[in-house]
Amino acid sequence: MMNFDYDLFVIGGGSGGVRAARVAAGEAGAKVALAEEDRYGGTCVIRGCVPKKLMVFASEFATLPGEAAAYGWDMSLGDFDWTRFSGHLNAELDRLEGVYRSLLKNSGVDTFDARATIRDAHTVQLSSGESFTAKHILIATGGHPVRPDIPNAHLGIVSDDIFHLPKLPKSVLIIGGGYIACEFACILNGLGVEVTQYYRGAQILRGFDDQARGMIADHMREKGIDLHLGTNILEMAPAAGDHHLSVDGLVPGAAMGASVRASGDLLATSDHHEGPVWVKASNGSQQVFETVLFATGRDPNSRNLGLEEIGIELGRRGEIRVDEYSQTAVPSIYAIGDVTNRVNLTPVAIREGMAFVETVFKGNPTPVDHDLIPSAVFTQPEMGTVGLSEEDARAQEPVEIYCTSFRPMRTAFAGQPDRVMMKLVVSRATRRVLGCHIVAPGAAEMIQLAGIAVKMGATKEDFDRTVAVHPTMSEEMVTMRSPTRTA
Ligand code: FAD
Repeated sequence: MMNFDYDLFVIGGGSGGVRAARVAAGEAGAKVALAEEDRYGGTCVIRGCVPKKLMVFASEFATLPGEAAAYGWDMSLGDFDWTRFSGHLNAELDRLEGVYRSLLKNSGVDTFDARATIRDAHTVQLSSGESFTAKHILIATGGHPVRPDIPNAHLGIVSDDIFHLPKLPKSVLIIGGGYIACEFACILNGLGVEVTQYYRGAQILRGFDDQARGMIADHMREKGIDLHLGTNILEMAPAAGDHHLSVDGLVPGAAMGASVRASGDLLATSDHHEGPVWVKASNGSQQVFETVLFATGRDPNSRNLGLEEIGIELGRRGEIRVDEYSQTAVPSIYAIGDVTNRVNLTPVAIREGMAFVETVFKGNPTPVDHDLIPSAVFTQPEMGTVGLSEEDARAQEPVEIYCTSFRPMRTAFAGQPDRVMMKLVVSRATRRVLGCHIVAPGAAEMIQLAGIAVKMGATKEDFDRTVAVHPTMSEEMVTMRSPTRTA
């Protein structure tokens, strides 16, 4: 039998990789190594969920003085100090990165600060020159933001760069209509930036419930975001009088403090330009924006890893093809998280990592359950959702829709126009709640709990016999008596 240096070598120290490594080492007693080429914690901790949510919190203070006045407080907010906030933010991210490093160390995982590639079914090559053999290799390399394929696209920034801006721009054009585009539109609007958003589709947040996404779009406009649907960027160029471009038209990302990383995949995310940008759009407008942010999708970090050379199949976007146990076509190599482009969320990457350890190191084959995953969009107001949209459910079977929309007590008292929405999509045949959609402040917190009931297979009658908590917004979830419509 062949002797390996490790039982498991994990490539990538993000949400999925760190969890799999420390559980395999700490709980299953495996000899584990992990290589990370950038910062421990990965996208979620360093340039995703965590810094984004802290920016959401920062931006939400903007509406407080208006509300507080109605409640009898004499309050003024003053200016937002980006430098102070981002200093605090970076210190917090440093702290969290340290936590991730020590979690690995305390579980007995050997860590390597290096880029890893795969040489063969059992060998990992590090950029430091070292190479190691392992019985199993786990690829958890995540994904990266992509710019559209148009001339001068490097003039725009991507979500990774937002957290490194030296100052907040006065105006920003956001291209895209997915959750990252909409969240940053709301964040930057709340922080006082003039926000314009172009999305080529007919409505933002494709794939979510139509009524919910329509309501979010209305609120975004009411709060001052200049949202243009059916609109795309046609051309972009440095605005007149700007001399920031270097001769070849590329400004190193380091000019704005973004980290330039070694991977061919990742380099594309960090070359951007500092200075106003002229933009021509498909709606005929020509405008100059201080910053253009591309939130136009993410691709898996699977290129230049040596995968295809050893027989691992990649999909159209570069996603690693795996089976329900996250195993690739090479039996000793598994892949989890965003690099497989299944459901690109942190808790899903973590689940996939745990299922991998159960399967490979605990003798308990565990397929990953991707059904009924609750999720949230941190716009203002938030959206929380689990299960089927009304449109998808209607296409599947006869349904009843229970829906209510109202002005919530807190902001109605302050004379604000905000509305919230609660919606249940119910199977007429089984009475099961197939989908639950909430647009409201705190919807993310609400949907986590509603998600348990929906995952358990709760029927509309189970919701009905649950006593309301009063006075709350979510009590409407258990008090909607007659269907709004049937289909
Ligand atoms: P990652 O966390 O991306 O980790 C991969 C790691 O691998 C990285 O650290 C990378 O540097 C490293 N790496 C890559 N190649 C190599 C190599 N060859 N050698 C060594 N190391 C390598 N999800 C949510 O659930 N909720 C949210 O609110 C949310 N908000 C988000 C907001 C933004 C702006 C973004 C971009 C993402 C957000 N996500 C959110 C998605 C979430 O961050 C990802 O789904 C999650 O981080 C995926 O984890 P992962 O382990 O697959 O990869």
